[in-house]
Amino acid sequence: SKLNVALIFGGKSGEHEVSLSSTASIYKHIDKNKYNVFTIGITKDGRWMYYEGSEENIKNGQWENLANKNVEINLIPVGNREVGIKFEDGRFEKIDVLFPVLHGPYGEDGKIQGLFEISQIPYVGCGVLASSVGMDKLVCKKVFSQMGLPQVNYTYTTKIVFNNNTEEELNKIERELDYPVFVKPANLGSSVGISKATNRKELLNGINEALKFDSRIVLEQGVDAREIEVSVLGNEEVKASIAGEIKPAKDFYDYEDKYINGASTYEIPAKISDADMENIRKMAVDAFKGIDGKGLSRVDFFIDRKSGEIFINEINTLPGFTNISMYPKMWEVTGLEYSNLIDKLIELAIDSKK
Ligand code: ATP
Ligand code: MG
Ligand code: MG
Ligand code: MG
Repeated sequence: SKLNVALIFGGKSGEHEVSLSSTASIYKHIDKNKYNVFTIGITKDGRWMYYEGSEENIKNGQWENLANKNVEINLIPVGNREVGIKFEDGRFEKIDVLFPVLHGPYGEDGKIQGLFEISQIPYVGCGVLASSVGMDKLVCKKVFSQMGLPQVNYTYTTKIVFNNNTEEELNKIERELDYPVFVKPANLGSSVGISKATNRKELLNGINEALKFDSRIVLEQGVDAREIEVSVLGNEEVKASIAGEIKPAKDFYDYEDKYINGASTYEIPAKISDADMENIRKMAVDAFKGIDGKGLSRVDFFIDRKSGEIFINEINTLPGFTNISMYPKMWEVTGLEYSNLIDKLIELAIDSKK
């Protein structure tokens, strides 16, 4: 019999729109002979609503107006009430697997994974710890550095400290790093709130911009580097895909480039030496295991154009899943086709609950 899979999409995050695209793509490719697919949207202000309809309306945001607000979504086991979806006509559907197709805060950072644990329903992807560590660029850097994974130099500031000691903080950053400096909100993705500062004025503006998204800010040494990514998949037994290279069309791989004009190009496999390929794939698996990863992640690296040095940039525990996203594309080239990848993720979710 078919499994009931609930895709959870949208969400209270700067990456809401990316989630809509990822969901439309998963909805299109998921094998409907194997699964009954239910789609549950979360608005930008955090309201959950059941929406059953076309992937176009998920993608363009129309689902919010078309959602059935009377369908009950019960995820917390309370008294005699069953956990699942209850429709207006009394029909009840239990959920076999939850699939969070969410990016950024509230979806990729462990918060919703905590709710899923309480629901006792298997779910796709990393658990609470890996999700929160992976999403927090500061904590994650500390974990990676403890593991001996090579990273660029970095420092950080926080909203209160920065606003109260702006000059001193700017001086500190300029002492510790050379321009260009990358300014990043600690908890986000899709390059939202990220900028590249080449002087003090841009640094100040960049920090103020990043503070709109998070109260903790990471400052990184900018490097002139090739960008290499690897997809990982598995629970105990973890596999790494063939690595790919992103070639941003602009100064860096920003939001527009990722999702709007898609002007960047890519190459899978990345044209790097066999030794670098092997090293990067191994580091990707190590990084995933190091944060207690489960299910999937995409691990991003830099290769310095001059020195050839490899740095790990970050791990994304719920990477973009649109039809132009690297995560599924790298698996495709490695020999795992999109809908089989979805099968595998669902299988891993169920296995991790056993
Ligand atoms: P994702 O969508 O992959 O989750 P993100 O928002 O977490 O992205 P990063 O991957 O940290 O952001 O950075 C976004 C982009 O900015 C990188 O792909 C790269 O182009 C550029 N970049 C980030 N940090 C550096 C750096 N230290 N040196 C050079 N370029 C950088
Ligand atoms: Mg990221
Ligand atoms: Mg991300
Ligand atoms: Mg990235």
